[in-house]
Amino acid sequence: MNLTEKSQKYLWLPFTQMKDYDQDPLIIESGKGIKVKDIHGKEYYDAFSSVWLNVHGHRKEELDHAIKAQLDKIAHSTLLGMTNVPATELAEKLVHIAPKSLTRVFYSDSGAEAVEIAVKMAYQYWQNIGQTKKQKFISVKNGYHGDTIGAVSVGAIDIFHQVYGPLMFEGFKTPVPNVYRHPSEDPSVCRDECIANLETLLEHYHEEIAGLTIESMVQGAGGMVVMPEGFLSRVRELCTKYDVLMIIDEVATGFGRTGKMFACEHEGVEPDLMAAGKGITGGYLPIAITYTSEKIYEAFYDDYTKLKTFFHGHSYTGNQLGCAVALANLDLFERDQIVAQVDEKSTRLHELFEEIRALPHVGDVRQLGFMCGIELVSDKATKEPFPFESRVAYKATLKMRELGLLTRPTGDVVVFMPPLVSSKEELREMVHIMKQAIDLVTKEEEERIAAAK
Ligand SMILES: *Cc1c(COP(=O)(O)O)cnc(C)c1O
Repeated sequence: MNLTEKSQKYLWLPFTQMKDYDQDPLIIESGKGIKVKDIHGKEYYDAFSSVWLNVHGHRKEELDHAIKAQLDKIAHSTLLGMTNVPATELAEKLVHIAPKSLTRVFYSDSGAEAVEIAVKMAYQYWQNIGQTKKQKFISVKNGYHGDTIGAVSVGAIDIFHQVYGPLMFEGFKTPVPNVYRHPSEDPSVCRDECIANLETLLEHYHEEIAGLTIESMVQGAGGMVVMPEGFLSRVRELCTKYDVLMIIDEVATGFGRTGKMFACEHEGVEPDLMAAGKGITGGYLPIAITYTSEKIYEAFYDDYTKLKTFFHGHSYTGNQLGCAVALANLDLFERDQIVAQVDEKSTRLHELFEEIRALPHVGDVRQLGFMCGIELVSDKATKEPFPFESRVAYKATLKMRELGLLTRPTGDVVVFMPPLVSSKEELREMVHIMKQAIDLVTKEEEERIAAAK
């Protein structure tokens, strides 16, 4: 059996209809810089940073070295009741780069766990301080926070989450300010409407609400929806006013992705809890974190017999190899001024998108830093989507693959999240490939639909 046949016989891939995989199998063997290579030697731009992770490109010497050096000491020991050297050093660095309100770091292995931990901490916080009625959560419609049941319960993407309905805990949903889909198309009108909605909800129910979960500035999996200016800071004000903990999810947006170290800095927002992951190790190893304020930490700090301990942990929490590479990643952020670079290059990227914006089936191109989405529509004037069965964005990404670029869509939105070190020339080439593929596939789809009528 060759490798492809083995993959088809033994594997079950995440977020993948295996029937699709069987038609278009792909096995990556190596990577260098912002490209990856498959087992047949074909090269691809890693235009989605291997699912939103990669920062400095693949096989970055300093990161490779950090792992090798750590291996000469120890690969892993537990964080239950004790700590280790890189996890401790990393915690200090992480607190220094975070918004001022956040003073403690709790480790885990994935973004979903980091959110799950934030939700459990917020819940237990109110229990520990005796406000036991505060048990529910508000989350934002179309939000995505990962795939474990707790994270799914505060998520709201119907197509992923509906089937698990009966397994989830109940909560409140508040609308997301999607300017492109708002009848007014006016950012402030759209924002104020959503804020008014949220305030009504808080007015009525704040006594039973523990926390509010929200992605920071951009809804990622929900379609790369960039929130209008002032939205996140107004949500912060409302959380404070109604005594609800604000849990910000920076798993996708953190570590420079949007042109700030954390996206909430765009609005000077200081959350009570914050989840981060993805870019934290430069895309090398599974480390995630939940930041908390000192107020929350203190509510758990007491004699053991009071049972205020946070009873949560994972086998690999605080893994040394992961923390060592995260430290090296943060050193590179500083040395290479990664955040400033993204901010600078994203202006160029905005110009490059001009040729994509002009295409007849591109309804909207949304971008904050290097976090971008291209929404495909059947009719640009009416914003009518392509039929669900068309899978037009999926087909466009298959065409991109043929042309030497990898990404994955979310719904009808083609995701573009290149590694943060991508040069202007590389950005230009990637945008050009996407343009060609989108143009070809949407025209084919248009013809196919016309022929079927
Ligand atoms: C990817 C993502 C998660 C989940 O992270 P995993 O590491 O895949 O579990 C959570 N929230 C957001 C906003 C994400 O983009």
